[in-house]
Amino acid sequence: MDKSPKKDTFAKSRKLVHYVKEKLNELMNSGTDEDDPNSPLVSIKRFEDIHMEPDLLKAVYAAGFNRPSKIQANALPLLLADPPLNLVAQSQSGTGKTAAFVLAMLTRVNKDLDHPQVICLCPTYELAIQTGEICAKLALYMKNITMIYAVSGEHMPPSCQVTQHIIIGTPGKIMDWGIKYKSFDLSKIRVFVLDEADTMVSTQGHHDQCIRIHRNLATSCQMIFFSATYDEEVLHFVKFMVADPTIIRLPREQECLDNIKQYYVMCRGEESKYSSIQNIYGGITIGQAIIFCNTRKSAAWLSKKLINDGHSVAVLSGELNVEERLGILDRFRAGLEKVLVTTNVLSRGIDVSQVTIVVNFHMPTLHGSGYPDYDTYLHRIGRTGRFGKHGIAINLIDSERDMKLSLAFEAHFKKPIALLNTNDSDEVQNLEN
Ligand code: ADP
Ligand code: MG
Repeated sequence: MDKSPKKDTFAKSRKLVHYVKEKLNELMNSGTDEDDPNSPLVSIKRFEDIHMEPDLLKAVYAAGFNRPSKIQANALPLLLADPPLNLVAQSQSGTGKTAAFVLAMLTRVNKDLDHPQVICLCPTYELAIQTGEICAKLALYMKNITMIYAVSGEHMPPSCQVTQHIIIGTPGKIMDWGIKYKSFDLSKIRVFVLDEADTMVSTQGHHDQCIRIHRNLATSCQMIFFSATYDEEVLHFVKFMVADPTIIRLPREQECLDNIKQYYVMCRGEESKYSSIQNIYGGITIGQAIIFCNTRKSAAWLSKKLINDGHSVAVLSGELNVEERLGILDRFRAGLEKVLVTTNVLSRGIDVSQVTIVVNFHMPTLHGSGYPDYDTYLHRIGRTGRFGKHGIAINLIDSERDMKLSLAFEAHFKKPIALLNTNDSDEVQNLEN
C-alpha cells in the first residue's frame, strides 16, 4: 500500500494532465480508419448494391451511414438471401454489427401477421435497449412494424399474448415469456439473433437459457450469431447449435486494435491508482472516459472518492435497478458526466462514440482467478475507438500480477502496451510523436 500518496502526485499530475490533453487533441484531429483501405470499415460496396427494401435504404442514409462497413457488406447479402442462410459472424468492436443484424431482422418481418417472428437476445439490459433504439431508427420508414422489449421491469401478464413482430431482450425474460407463460410461440420465430454470441453460449454466461430457447425454435428458423470474439471451444459449440453455418471472421483478433493506443501506468497501491485517475480526469477536455473496476464495491469506492473531490462522475453497476442504470447511461451519452465508473456489466456492446479513454482500474481476469481474460480486455477497450475513431486504453498497474497480466495482453494481441512514465519528460515527448 502507498502510505504517502500526495508526495510526488502534483508534479506528476500536471505532466500527466498535459500529456493526456495533448494526446487527445492530436487524436481528435487525426483522420479515422475510414480512410485506410485495409480498415474493416472500408468496403467496395455501396448500400445500393445490397438489395434491401427502399424504406430500409432510406433509413440507413437517414441514420448517417454513407457506405457499409466490411462486416455489413459481407454479412448483409448472406443475411438477406433466400432461402435464408445461418450466419456466424465475427468482426471487431465498433464495426457496425448491430445494423447488419437489425437490417436482416426488419427485412424478414411479415407485417400481416400479428405475432412475434424475430427474437434478438442480448446479454444485458442496457444492450437490449441500445439495440432496440437502433432497430427503431432503421424502421423509421417501415410502417406498422412493431417491437417489444423483453427485459427486467417489463411485465407480461400470464394470459396475455405478445402481438409485436420483434422481441429484443435478455435471455431470462424471453425464456419466461416464450416457455413459462407461453406468451408467444417460439416455433413461429423466423429469425433468431444472438448478439455477443460467445458470452451468450459460454457456460459462465447465459448458456442454459439460450439453449432452452434455441431448442424450441423450428429447424427452419434463421440463426444469426454475432460477436467480436469467439474462442475455439465456443465456436465449436456454436457450430453444433447452428446447422450449416456460413462463418465470417473479419478480421481475426490479432488484427484488431490498430486504432486504440494502449498504455500502462505504474502505480503504488490503490491510492496511487486514484491519483492517476484524477490526472486522467483533468486531461479529458473533448471526449469521455469509462473506468472499469472488477467489483461493484471498488466501483462505488472510486466514484465516491472522485465525487467527494468535486469531479462529475457517474457510476453504473449491477446493484442498481434497471431504471437507474438506464438513466445513468443516458446522462453519460448526453455528455453530462465526463467519466463513467463501471464493472464488466458494461464491457460489451455499449456504443458511446465520444468515449476517448478506457481505463482498467483493475485488469480483467477469468472469474477472479489470476488468469488473463483476453476477451473481456478486448471488449472493454473496444468501448473506445468506435467505428474507426481513435482511442486510448490505459492499464493501471500496482503489482507484479497486474504487470504479468498487461504483458499477457500485449503478447496475446501482438500490439504494444507502452509505459506512460510521466516523470520522464523526454519519454513523454517521444510518446507524443
Ligand atoms: P459493433 O456492434 O460492431 O461493436 P455497433 O453496431 O455498435 O458496433 O456500431 C458502432 C458505431 O458505428 C455506431 O455508433 C453506429 O451508429 C456506427 N455505424 C454503424 N454502421 C455504420 C456505417 N455504415 N456508417 C457509419 N457509421 C456506422
Ligand atoms: Mg455490438
